[in-house]
Formats: sequence, structure tokens, C-alpha cells
Amino acid sequence: MFISNWLLILLALAVVAVALLAVRQLGGWMSGNRSCARCGAAARHGYSQKAESAQKDIEPLCVSCLPAQLEQDYSAYQGRVLVVQPVSDLPCYVFRDREHLKWVSPEAQDLDHEIQNLLGRVGQCKDCGHPGHCLWIESRGLDSKTLEVVLKRGLAKTILAWDNPPPISLCGECSAKRISQSLRGEGFSYLEVCSPHGVEEGIVLPMGY
Ligand SMILES: [Zn+2]
Ligand SMILES: [Zn+2]
Repeated sequence: MFISNWLLILLALAVVAVALLAVRQLGGWMSGNRSCARCGAAARHGYSQKAESAQKDIEPLCVSCLPAQLEQDYSAYQGRVLVVQPVSDLPCYVFRDREHLKWVSPEAQDLDHEIQNLLGRVGQCKDCGHPGHCLWIESRGLDSKTLEVVLKRGLAKTILAWDNPPPISLCGECSAKRISQSLRGEGFSYLEVCSPHGVEEGIVLPMGY
């Protein structure tokens, strides 16, 4: 009895210690204590190669180095992707491929089908006339509360019906410019941002996981 009580107390202490460490790490990140891995300025975002990377693979970047990286990624990208405008209310802004969307939930089958149809609308870049690779979708109405509805019901019945302008085709470079422009707004600090690479197809959207 005596020993098991001690074990319980030790266990409780361990849980408290882990929780405190997690809070401290999150606090340090959110308050901008980390510095940019490339230039040493205060880091604002985390950048990774693919969504849900391990913490050690997420590079802290500042408000200048992230846009530069995004421009490089999207300029090199040769596939087709839907890009939903960033919103500050969600912790991540990541590329999800169609395989992942099929796996998320049974309803996502429809979402994948819808994405496939929307990708068919990618044409010439509306901003510069170069061949397009992205379909830009504005995100009025999207936040941490409505994200689930969007994933469940698809874009046509949600974002695209929420008073947003019709989606437009953009080349990678012009997409990166619009993303960076949005990120200059109030309150943006993403824990993880990643871009599409190569010819993979899917959707870039603000989300949490
Ligand atoms: Zn930097
Ligand atoms: Zn363009």
C-alpha cells in the first residue's frame, strides 16, 4: 500500500513535470524567443518539408526568411494545387496530398473528388499570364470552428459559398506572393508551414492537428 502510494505520487510528479515543460516550450515559441535558423532575427513561424514533421525537423524562420523560402518552393513546384488563403486562427498552414485527404474520413472521398474537379480549372496565371499551377481560394468564414465543416462538407457548400470571390488560377510565384501578403496581417504565427513539392497534387490550407 505504502509503496503504491509513493508510485502514484511519483507518477503524478512526472506528469506535472512533463506538462510544465510542454507549456514552457510552447510559451517560448509563441513569445518569439526562438531565433530564425537562417538570419538570427526573431522567428515567427516554423517551416518543414512535410506536414506533421517531428519538432526537430521544423525550422524556425522569421517574417522575411519564410516568404523567401515559399517563393523558392512555389516557383519550383510543377504540379497542381488548391491554395486556400491563410487565416491566423489556425496553428498550421500545410500542403496535404490527395492520398491523405482520402484517409482523413469517409466524407473526404467527396472532398478528394471535388479537389480533382477544381484542379481541372487551373489555367493561365491571372496575375502574370505564365502557366498556372495553383487555384487560389480566399478564406472568408474559415477559422478553427468552421474547419471541420469544410473538411466534412467540401469546399463548394462552405468556403466557396461564403461570400468569397470565385477562385483564380495563379502561377507558383504569384501564389507565394499572395500567401506572403496575407501573412503580413495581424496575429500570424504558424507552428508549421510546408509547401507542395515536385508534381504532387492536393490542397494547401490552414489547419490544426
Ligand atoms: Zn530570418
Ligand atoms: Zn503569375
